[in-house]
Amino acid sequence: MSAALAYLMNTSARQPVAFSRGQGALLWDSEGVEYLDAIAGVAVTSLGHANPEIAAAITEQAGVLLHTTNMFRIPWQEQLGERLCRLSGMQRAFFCNSGAEANEAALKLARLHGNARQVAQPQVLVMENSFHGRTLATLAATGNPAVQRGFEPLMPGFIRVPYDDIDAVRQVAAQSPNVVAVLVEPVQGEGGVHAASVGYLQALRQVCDEHDWLMMIDEVQTGLGRTGTWFGFQHAGIEPDVISLAKALGNGFPIGACLAHGKAAELFSPGHHASTFGGNPLACRVGCTVLDIMQRDHLPQRAAASGRRLLAALKLALGSHPQVVSIRGLGLMVGIELDHPCADLVNKARDEQRMLITVTRGNTVRLLPPLICDDAQIDDIAARMARLLSPQA
Ligand code: PLP
Repeated sequence: MSAALAYLMNTSARQPVAFSRGQGALLWDSEGVEYLDAIAGVAVTSLGHANPEIAAAITEQAGVLLHTTNMFRIPWQEQLGERLCRLSGMQRAFFCNSGAEANEAALKLARLHGNARQVAQPQVLVMENSFHGRTLATLAATGNPAVQRGFEPLMPGFIRVPYDDIDAVRQVAAQSPNVVAVLVEPVQGEGGVHAASVGYLQALRQVCDEHDWLMMIDEVQTGLGRTGTWFGFQHAGIEPDVISLAKALGNGFPIGACLAHGKAAELFSPGHHASTFGGNPLACRVGCTVLDIMQRDHLPQRAAASGRRLLAALKLALGSHPQVVSIRGLGLMVGIELDHPCADLVNKARDEQRMLITVTRGNTVRLLPPLICDDAQIDDIAARMARLLSPQA
């Protein structure tokens, strides 16, 4: 491998492998070794690698029109906005290029909402162990001191409470008149694969209504079928005011979106927010093609079934393993918590089982397979995990 890594800023602890091609849930490295991809580029390539319909959409659109600017109407953007709104129950979309940017747009909506309510120091309620991105505002919203360290002073305007704890929310509501919004993930992914309970999200909706807070749901990782429904909040049957999306929306092509409903959808007016690349014809055509495939192939339903299958297989193989504390998940977002730090499993899984996994919170293996995995691949993921943790099996 070349020594050119030294020319890249040292932001990622990179594994010593480079992939040269992919196909569906498989990847091949530069030596031709095949790997089973159980992370999908961290919940991005839900339709698999080298998806031919996505490739065709990119090539066709690249030969027609890449970019104009948001000073003009962009039919692909309007189509994608309408389709995302119909799927989510939202009413208006803003397009950007990443998850952090989608959350930035949400946080700007919260500020506008607060200022419109004459709240001088508007605050957003956020959760412990959350992850919302690495820009300065989303970093401050993120509940992980390790990723914040060194970037102080953090942007003010956030109050943090434990996740999935409605009493803590009610306590803040009683004491803090400056809160104008809440930002929450339906399942904390980076935070160790913890799903909020349905009752919590429903009660949170109620508190938001009582106090005129915007309920903002970070669906960057959970959105677009990952948890077995189109969006994670739909498990709770609630209607948020704002949601953020990115990751799977482009299957690897950069695109993010902030969607809003009701009064939140009317907060932005020209001059408030913008993105040069956001919502360009190429990105939005890719987004429309992603939706075409997900709708035609019923991928959210498939993720629900595959997730049940994966959880059942993992529980059968590892449920009584002495080091396994918990096996949990929602759809194809699965965590296996161990009783000890296990970051070394990433290398072992790659080198010994030829499978790509991640570890979050130090002790939880996280699996995010592509939604297009067939049953045999789902079973294979469970089997390789079992061999990884019980080599004698
Ligand atoms: N929000 C959540 C829940 C995420 O999981 C991530 C990324 O992992 C982000 C936001 C940030 O997205 P991006 O890396 O595209 O800025």
